[in-house]
Parts: sequence; structure tokens; C-alpha cells
Amino acid sequence: MIFSAGLLLVTCGIVFITVLLVKVFNYKQQAKCKVNTLQDDSSPAAVVEPEVLIVGAGVVGSALAAVLGREGRNVVLLERDMSEPDRILGELLQPGGFHALQELGLEAALDGIEAEAMHGYVVHDLHTGSNVVLHYPKDAEGRVQAGRAFHHGRFIAGLRREAQKQETVTVIEATATRLIEEHGVIVGVQYKAKDGEGTQHLRASLTVVADGCFSRLRRSLVNESVVVSSHFVGVLMESCPQFQ
Ligand SMILES: Cc1cc2nc3c(=O)[nH]c(=O)nc-3n(C[C@H](O)[C@H](O)[C@H](O)COP(=O)(O)OP(=O)(O)OC[C@H]3O[C@@H](n4cnc5c(N)ncnc54)[C@H](O)[C@@H]3O)c2cc1C
Repeated sequence: MIFSAGLLLVTCGIVFITVLLVKVFNYKQQAKCKVNTLQDDSSPAAVVEPEVLIVGAGVVGSALAAVLGREGRNVVLLERDMSEPDRILGELLQPGGFHALQELGLEAALDGIEAEAMHGYVVHDLHTGSNVVLHYPKDAEGRVQAGRAFHHGRFIAGLRREAQKQETVTVIEATATRLIEEHGVIVGVQYKAKDGEGTQHLRASLTVVADGCFSRLRRSLVNESVVVSSHFVGVLMESCPQFQ
């Protein structure tokens, strides 16, 4: 009797584990292979449903896509404009950011963009004509740490290049117009392709919104409105004699 009950328990256990494994396998297969069929227009382009859908190929989106792609993750990167950005911002990668880039294995994003090593700041006193040099702190080996200065757009282009190198990363030039929510869960986005008409839907196991500080999608996630508390003016200096 005890032997039969034990046998029954073992059999049930094996059946349970088998069912569980089949479900996990099916889930993984679905995550990798499911084809998106939700389209609002008659466009024949069907995109394979990715594991991760990233909106925005800026600093965050491009770096994330590159790293996940390198791990073999199926990623779709949705960016409204894939041409090289021409904005004055994000020209200086501080030493901490540079280390993070190295740790992510994305240093190649700096290749061929004339990135300059920066070891600190120089404050120019116009009244006395003197310069005050402020070095970055030293590292564990006693060397002054370094950051990198560059043209922001060329750096972004470099990060996007690293993402596009990955076979499992697909880039779609399109604007995400809204998040798709089901039962309180974000399951994908609605988007409008740059060279297409109408809108399409793309679903994914995970949706990452990395569309920058002027995000339209953030509005549907949080109630607070964005407060612009300061302004930034960029000055382009050519053949600057104070360069050190
Ligand atoms: C004036 C200024 C100066 C700065 N200077 C520095 C600096 O010197 N050093 C530094 O480290 N940081 C600096 N920063 C901060 C830095 O620029 C940001 O932290 C960084 O760019 C944020 O990265 P992100 O990927 O979140 O957004 P972004 O880099 O802005 O990328 C967002 C991307 O999303 C895309 N996108 C937006 N909406 C959609 C949509 N609906 N569908 C599809 N794509 C979309 C955009 O085209 C863009 O490519 C500065 C910021 C500003 C404003």
C-alpha cells in the first residue's frame, strides 16, 4: 500500500515536471518565434515578435540592444530617425561613464569619432589671466582618471553600429505612437514606420521605453508633468587657442 502510494507520487511528480518543462519550452519558443499579426493597415510586413522591444536608439536604447543582442536575445530597436543626430548635448563622457562603457564591452563605439581623452577641467580667470587646473580623482593605481569628449551624434552612431552588428537585433525606423496595455501590463507598442502609411502593432515579452527626456510615451505611465527648470546654450568654438 505504502509502496503503491509512493509510486503514484513519483508518477505524478514526473508528469508534473514534464508538463512544466513542455510549458517552459513552449513559452521560450513563442518568445523567440511568434509572428506579429496585429496590424492596423494592409501592409504585408510582419515583424517577428521579439523577446525585447526597445523604443529609442539613443544612449540607453542602443547600448541595451547591443548588450542583449550579444547575449543572443531577440531584440527589436525602434528609432524614429536613424540618421546621425546633430544636437549639442552629451559631448562629455565622465570617467565613470567611460568605465561603464568599457565594462559593457562597447568601447568600439568610440572608434573613428576623434574622441579626446579628458583628464579634468581648466577654469580660465579672465581678470588675472590665470588658469586653474582641476584634475579628475586618481584611480587605484594612482593615475588620473580619464573621460572622453566627442561629437554626441557620432557617439550615438557608434553605439547604434554596435547594436546593428548583432544578428539578433532588428532595427525599425519608426515612431512609437502609444504603448499597448493589457490587464495593467505593457505588452508592446503601436508605431508608424518612417516610410510607411498607417500604424502597426508590435508585441514583445518585455518593452523598454528609452525615448529620452522629451518622451511622449512617459505621459501614459506617470501622472506628473515635466517641469523645464533650466536651459542650456551650446557654443561651437573652432581652432580654440585655450585647448589643452
Ligand atoms: C543640454 C544637455 C547636455 C547634456 N550633456 C551631457 C554630457 O555632457 N554628458 C552626459 O553624459 N550627459 C549629458 N546629457 C544627458 C544625456 O544627453 C542624456 O542622459 C542621454 O542622452 C539620455 O539617453 P537616453 O537614451 O535616455 O535618451 P536620448 O539619448 O535622448 O535618446 C532617445 C532616443 O529616442 C528616440 N525617440 C524619441 N521618441 C521616440 C518615439 N516616439 N519613437 C521612436 N523613437 C523615439 C530619439 O530619436 C532618440 O534617438 C545632457 C543632456 C542635455 C539635455
